[in-house]
Amino acid sequence: MDDDRTHFLVLGGGPAGVAAAIRASTLGARVTVVEKDIIGGAAHLWDCIPSKTMVASAHRRRNMRTAPQLGVPGVARDVDLPALNDRMERISNDISHGEVGMLESLGVERLEGWGKLTGPKSAVASTADGDVRIAFDLAVVSTGSAPRVPDWAQPDGRRVLTTRDAYGLDELPEHVVVVGSGVTGVEFVNIWASLGSKVTLVVSRQQVLPHRDPEVAAVLEEDFLERGVRLLKGARAVGVETTDSGVVVATDDGRRVEGSHVLLAIGSVPLTEGIGLDAAGVETDGGFIPVDQFNRTNVPHIYAAGDVTGQLPLSSVATVQGRKLAHHAMGRPTRPLDYRRVAQAIFTEPEIASVGLDEADAAAEGRRIRSTKVPFASNSRSVIQDATRGFVKLISDPATHEVLGGTIVGYRAADLIGIVALAVQARVHVEDVVDTIMVHPSLSESIAHAAD
Ligand SMILES: Cc1cc2nc3c(=O)[nH]c(=O)nc-3n(C[C@H](O)[C@H](O)[C@H](O)COP(=O)(O)OP(=O)(O)OC[C@H]3O[C@@H](n4cnc5c(N)ncnc54)[C@H](O)[C@@H]3O)c2cc1C
Repeated sequence: MDDDRTHFLVLGGGPAGVAAAIRASTLGARVTVVEKDIIGGAAHLWDCIPSKTMVASAHRRRNMRTAPQLGVPGVARDVDLPALNDRMERISNDISHGEVGMLESLGVERLEGWGKLTGPKSAVASTADGDVRIAFDLAVVSTGSAPRVPDWAQPDGRRVLTTRDAYGLDELPEHVVVVGSGVTGVEFVNIWASLGSKVTLVVSRQQVLPHRDPEVAAVLEEDFLERGVRLLKGARAVGVETTDSGVVVATDDGRRVEGSHVLLAIGSVPLTEGIGLDAAGVETDGGFIPVDQFNRTNVPHIYAAGDVTGQLPLSSVATVQGRKLAHHAMGRPTRPLDYRRVAQAIFTEPEIASVGLDEADAAAEGRRIRSTKVPFASNSRSVIQDATRGFVKLISDPATHEVLGGTIVGYRAADLIGIVALAVQARVHVEDVVDTIMVHPSLSESIAHAAD
């Protein structure tokens, strides 16, 4: 039977691709997803889900260490790495199966294999059963990214690790040297330090999280130092050697750091090679695919979303891009995504989360702001939880009183920032935040106090 529905091709089934597939299908398209690994993408296999599952175990163990302070002595602190790894795999698979079920219930066709565009409206999927040719009306390229590997290191999956090798190790590393003090680097420092490994962090600048508010970085550094993490500041890694017992990392100031493992956390590169962009006429810039505000490439019926676009490399952003572009492609009204209002978090202890304008942005724009800050040390729930480190900072417009942004450093900051994100999105006034009666005792009270 002929199918006269619009045929929508999704190349890469990560967060961006799955969101686009679901939305395009519910809007009436016939959808084909080509995916070479698992539905859910790197986010499920190596990134968001496994790393946050490790964070949960690390957090639980750290809590046990401090439990005697809360009158709960004698709890075990051993780490059962195989059990942790099994749990991580189970959670990733369960979430992926849920998404596969959703796609199946919508009648989305799935092809397992490498996909490649062969022309502006044609593609091929190399599956185990041979090549499947696809003629499409609309497409989205959502093939994601992979860890950046420098020319001075050769990952071997055993001792020299990228973030993709960091899961499923047989034993807890004795001493990990983490290269890169951005979001991914500091998250792994927190994980391994909490699980009991010795950790050295190579920090190329003078502060961890070099692009963040110095007050935020200071809280994290204080925590790392308290836990015995060694910070090697102002040093760039320039070489890695493997030895019989481990690794030696050389830095540009002549230092040599020995460890059992090294983790390279120095960013990612887009996966846009070998997918036929030339054949389809899709332009790239530095490997990324430039898109307009609706995620259209230079070829109007071909969209791109997620990490390949070089915009904020977050699963949450990829998902919203995918959903919005499907609306646009299917001729439905949609608002462009506002990248300045994206809530972001770093899953360290304390957690770090932010949304909207910060003081540095305001200074760069020459914009007048009101900045108010409240420490969690004055919040009774924080005291009860034994989690007083950190603060809430709110940025508002002194003329209109609109909430423009906020930063939260502290226990559950990744969840709490949602309140501020909603305030920024809905252009709420500080008085409305002050008048919101939060639960007592709760961490959210600090948001209302910061607004006051
Ligand atoms: C360690 C780590 C932790 C992270 N944690 C978080 C977090 O907590 N929260 C957050 O929001 N973001 C997080 N991120 C970022 C997030 O993982 C990415 O931004 C997100 O996965 C991007 O989604 P995507 O759909 O663009 O690509 P991906 O998730 O990379 O999916 C792309 C898919 O395309 C497939 N593919 C590629 N080429 C082809 C081809 N030719 N044919 C068929 N299939 C193909 C791949 O197999 C993959 O499944 C983390 C990143 C890292 C590295």
